[in-house]
Amino acid sequence: MSSIATETNLDIQKIRADFPILSQKVNGKPLVYFDNAATTQKPKQVINAITQYYEGYNANIHRGLHSLAEKATTAFEATRTTFQQFINAAESEEVIFTKGTTDSINLVATAYGRKFIQPGDEILVSGMEHHSNIVPWQMLCEEKGAILKVIPVHKDGAISIDEVKELITEKTKMVSVVFASNSLGTVNPVKEIAQLAHQAGAVMMIDGAQAASHCKVDVQDLDCDFFATSGHKMYGPTGSGILYGKRAILEKMNPYQGGGEMIKDVSFKKTTYNDIPYKFEAGTPNIADIVALKAAVEYINALGKENIVRHENEITAHAHKRLAEVPGINFYGTTENKVSVVSFTLDNVHPYDAGMMLDAKGIAVRTGHHCTQPLMDHFGIEGTIRASFSVYNTKEEIDFLAESLKDIVSKFS
Ligand code: PMP
Repeated sequence: MSSIATETNLDIQKIRADFPILSQKVNGKPLVYFDNAATTQKPKQVINAITQYYEGYNANIHRGLHSLAEKATTAFEATRTTFQQFINAAESEEVIFTKGTTDSINLVATAYGRKFIQPGDEILVSGMEHHSNIVPWQMLCEEKGAILKVIPVHKDGAISIDEVKELITEKTKMVSVVFASNSLGTVNPVKEIAQLAHQAGAVMMIDGAQAASHCKVDVQDLDCDFFATSGHKMYGPTGSGILYGKRAILEKMNPYQGGGEMIKDVSFKKTTYNDIPYKFEAGTPNIADIVALKAAVEYINALGKENIVRHENEITAHAHKRLAEVPGINFYGTTENKVSVVSFTLDNVHPYDAGMMLDAKGIAVRTGHHCTQPLMDHFGIEGTIRASFSVYNTKEEIDFLAESLKDIVSKFS
């Protein structure tokens, strides 16, 4: 790759050159892309991997003996091994390909939950969860007569481990918590929560949608039972993601969907299921995007995740400092330990108005509830303006955001 990470620094301009989309103008202004928590942009290494697949070796995987099928299968399975190493899973079979985090959580709620959750059991989530880590559990609770409990969120956007201790009881069977909040940036103590869950005999799931590109992820060290993430939030293609699960648990679970690939043998009398991970990968998967997901992991590895995080932390601190100068700004999510998300409201300016006025200046931010309506209700707000940063963002872009916000606020005062 053209961008080389040094020990202490990243060449951000070189990195930006890897992302073709960043050089365009939006509304006649240079694009400032601050919507990375929704989806990151893609480097040409990832885009090229998709093109190379379709131009060079498109074929259905696993069932073909011809050369293209073998090449496609090898590339597809290479992503599994690369992702295994990326999250330090013990075995590549513990990595299941999905469409993304939502798909992965639904897989667990269905394939684990339907089999193991009983009436009266408790499922624990936090008050800052994305809808995709709330609704599948609510659906399961409705079906099973189980109870959904919620870890409260404090004013600074953090949860308290003492409250987690109180909420986990012998009735708790599943704990599912977000590693890093998409609305606040808060990084949760998921390793400690996993320990508490296990002490009570519960299973621990981590929503790692925001964590994969912003936090160190070692699933063996975290000792989580399940970990879900999305490729598109880590420079990879949309429609690609993974579910990590411990072998012993995955083997006990029922399949998620029935169809081709997930079977060993089918007859009208009795069907036997395939081994993990294929048991959970029914039908033709999203081959092109999963093949290209490998290029995304390699891109992160080449820059060095710790270098990426250092850069993101620097610009997030700069954003908090510069945006604090904006009259009437209120921040949501002010904990020390956070990823590169800055969420705020402005007195007298509706988030949507601010979002549209920023767009006119070429700045892409997200406004609204960010699929965390219960969290917004908790803070008594409709939504926030969220600027979320990635490795290709610069302090100059943040300065431009700060000046633009001052300008917008002045028009409403
Ligand atoms: N959880 C979190 C914390 C997220 O930020 C998101 C995406 N915004 C999701 C889950 C859902 O991810 P996806 O839409 O890729 O399935």
